[in-house]
Amino acid sequence: MSQSSCIFCKISQKIIPSTKVFESEDVFAFHDIQPAAPTHILIIPKKHIATINDLDADDANILGNMMLAAKQIAADLNVAEQGYRLIVNCGPDALQSVFHIHIHLMAGQKMGWPPFPGKAISH
Ligand code: 5GP
Ligand code: ZN
Repeated sequence: MSQSSCIFCKISQKIIPSTKVFESEDVFAFHDIQPAAPTHILIIPKKHIATINDLDADDANILGNMMLAAKQIAADLNVAEQGYRLIVNCGPDALQSVFHIHIHLMAGQKMGWPPFPGKAISH
């Protein structure tokens, strides 16, 4: 289930330390090491899944539990009412840099939309 070279597998197994904010049977969440917002949490499955493109139908329950974890973490960190953003980067255009699925939970400041600079480029 886990991949020995994967940094997020090592974090969920506590081989690499992190600042944990949530843990269940199939989900783990911790503070991003390089926060890009006042609150920046990463929510990951304990199962190694590289990207959204690698999901199976069997993973639906894990994904649901990750979203429920996001709801609980937002409440626990007192950002639920003011608002927060959940982001999943997939692939090079989205700048995914760690290939173990994660939801970014970002909060604590007014954000912009759309989340990328400049005008949309049509393909
Ligand atoms: P991505 O660009 O793949 O969507 O996001 C990866 C995130 O993981 C980045 O925000 C980065 O700061 C975070 N990150 C990378 N390595 C570590 C680490 O070892 N510990 C923690 N806590 N966060 C990490
Ligand atoms: Zn992994």
